[in-house]
Amino acid sequence: MDDTAMELMDDEYFMHQALREARKAYQANEVPIGAVIVKEQRVIARGWNQVETLKDATAHAEMLALTAAQSILGDWRLEGCTLYVTKEPCPMCAGAIVHCRPDRVVFALPDPKAGACGGWINLLDSNPPLNHACATSYGVCEDEARELLVGFFREARKKRKEKLKILKGLPTQDDLTP
Ligand SMILES: [Zn+2]
Repeated sequence: MDDTAMELMDDEYFMHQALREARKAYQANEVPIGAVIVKEQRVIARGWNQVETLKDATAHAEMLALTAAQSILGDWRLEGCTLYVTKEPCPMCAGAIVHCRPDRVVFALPDPKAGACGGWINLLDSNPPLNHACATSYGVCEDEARELLVGFFREARKKRKEKLKILKGLPTQDDLTP
């Protein structure tokens, strides 16, 4: 097996780890996005989207994984690291990624509307003025990542409809007035 084939196999393996994190988010009623950071073929940090759980709009999976990796390594420079994430990072996360300087970013599902790694804009390949550029790959386990997200939003819409039905079943203000 040549190096490229080997790398593709690894990418799939580690993206499955990121998908496991995304499922944790799903279980917690969060938009299902997960991330892992890998160094020397080992997962050193994990993160899942916890915006609702932590009541923190910055608690994206990538942000939490980056913070955990820096803490584990005792260094803000994530040299030699690869970040795997199930959806293309947003501008906030892409900005944080550039500051932490991992070698590579691999994402599953591209986001042409709001992605900041080539979908909408590309902050990972803006050197200069930003002082780091990351190699980027995408499309690894794309279908699985999409199914998870689509399923989550379908479920959320269903729940909203049910809620509305219950609300409509409630007595109106006229019923309550004697
Ligand atoms: Zn983000």
